[in-house]
Amino acid sequence: MQFNVVIIGGGTAGCVLASRLSEDPGQAVCLVEAGPDYGPYAGGGWPEDMVDGRQLAFSHSWETDREDRSQLRARILGGCSGHNACVVLEGAPADYDAWGPGWTYRELEPYLRRAERQLRTRRPTDDELLPWGSAFLQAGGDASIVNPLNAVGSVRWNAAFAYLDPARNRPNLAILADTLGDRVLLDGERAVGVATSAGELTADTVMLTASSYGSPAILLRSGIGRIRDCRSARGWPTTSESVRAGSQPSCSRTRPRASRASIPSSWARSRLRSGARPARRGSATSSCFPRSSRASRATR
Ligand SMILES: Cc1cc2nc3c(=O)[nH]c(=O)nc-3n(C[C@H](O)[C@H](O)[C@H](O)COP(=O)(O)OP(=O)(O)OC[C@H]3O[C@@H](n4cnc5c(N)ncnc54)[C@H](O)[C@@H]3O)c2cc1C
Repeated sequence: MQFNVVIIGGGTAGCVLASRLSEDPGQAVCLVEAGPDYGPYAGGGWPEDMVDGRQLAFSHSWETDREDRSQLRARILGGCSGHNACVVLEGAPADYDAWGPGWTYRELEPYLRRAERQLRTRRPTDDELLPWGSAFLQAGGDASIVNPLNAVGSVRWNAAFAYLDPARNRPNLAILADTLGDRVLLDGERAVGVATSAGELTADTVMLTASSYGSPAILLRSGIGRIRDCRSARGWPTTSESVRAGSQPSCSRTRPRASRASIPSSWARSRLRSGARPARRGSATSSCFPRSSRASRATR
């Protein structure tokens, strides 16, 4: 089938793009995800550990070595938003400003607020704070930072729930789960489709959102990258040389607002305070992930 857009990787970014792009009924959008799709949240089919935001989940990881979590990433619709710590981090305004016109904090702020709403972001309640987090909050008073969560009750409100569920019924959106994107199909230097484990898909536009690990690998298998890297990825030389594909992956240019946080943090512990204002110098971060006692399931 011919699509306007094929998106490879139905993780955090892929779900957002598929949802936003398919708002235009004239755009036929296909989202390809290697992992499973358990349907809308309301269907109740998601594995318990993946929706329990009170702890990290490991049942849908790409990694087979359960001891090595240094490169942990999820293979499921929603991607790493499906197993992460639900901390809603925002960069410091000055970092956005450094990106220049079109990307300044003032220009991006409406979208940050919109994303907060879509992700059902909320401040944790006092009784969700870990005991030492409560103590820290008490000691820090107004200077404490409490990180907002994208959690509805105890449910990790992943990108699939937040962005795809409202879009699932659109006739112009196809979701291909359990399908691997192998390589981009090229006509000369122009992308014209994708070879997947379910066959070839053709598209006017191809988007790679298979994460900082998956996307470079697809590029290299497509022959886009450094000659030596492409050759080792697929056994024959490059189609389009790009010295940047697959090199120097970096998470983000922005620093979290609480980069001066004084509390040692793990993924499940680091939190930013609620509200949109930048953290004051010397502000402290309080850990407050919902405690592991029973917590309510989401009500929608
Ligand atoms: C344990 C952990 C905790 C975290 N906690 C937080 C947190 O609290 N707050 C926060 O803001 N960030 C957190 N992060 C980081 C955040 O989750 C990621 O930065 C974000 O999810 C990355 O989004 P992405 O779309 O780039 O990639 P992903 O969400 O990883 O999505 C990539 C998707 O592509 C799919 N894919 C890969 N290769 C292929 C292929 N060849 N074909 C088809 N599909 C493919 C994958 O299965 C996956 O679904 C955490 C990350 C981890 C690992």
